[in-house]
Amino acid sequence: MDYKKYIADVVDFPKEGILFRDITPLMAEGEVFKSACDEILAFAKKVGANVIVGPESRGFIFGCPVAYSMGIGFIPVRKPGKLPRETVSMSYDLEYGSNELHIHKGDIKKGQKVLIIDDLLATGGTVNATIQIVESMGAEVVGCAFLIELEDLKGRELLKNYEVFSLMSYK
Ligand code: IMP
Repeated sequence: MDYKKYIADVVDFPKEGILFRDITPLMAEGEVFKSACDEILAFAKKVGANVIVGPESRGFIFGCPVAYSMGIGFIPVRKPGKLPRETVSMSYDLEYGSNELHIHKGDIKKGQKVLIIDDLLATGGTVNATIQIVESMGAEVVGCAFLIELEDLKGRELLKNYEVFSLMSYK
């Protein structure tokens, strides 16, 4: 499947100088969306995941169908102020400033095998903070899966100790 045909390149979004890869055309084509989810599902089975963790918001879109297909749980990773109960959090640096991610305390159990699913791997900051939270809860990260990998930002180097899957790669 030529997935790149279904990615819209948007110049100067969300700010000048950024080339944004918009995945919504892929989601809008039922067969393509299904095929993308099925490829991630195959990876999830291969690495033996028994829970899926997905950062907001596009991680939800691809993480939930995979969790549903396997009959396993889906745990959301959210920005500050969104989760109503006590959380475990991790902050990470952005180009300007920092960000913080949260998971509800107790939602991930010790020893669980976690697959992290997000739409895109750029610098790796988001997935790395997610890994720190998951591991601090005593679970094992068995893989990280993305639709898109932006190779030049070298996110994969941060993930060298993990199994990484991506459907598409851009230089
Ligand atoms: P990272 O933390 O630098 O790896 O950035 C990845 C996160 O930013 C993911 O959660 C993506 O959803 C989001 N992101 C960064 N660039 C893009 C893009 O071009 N298209 C869609 N999402 C992006």
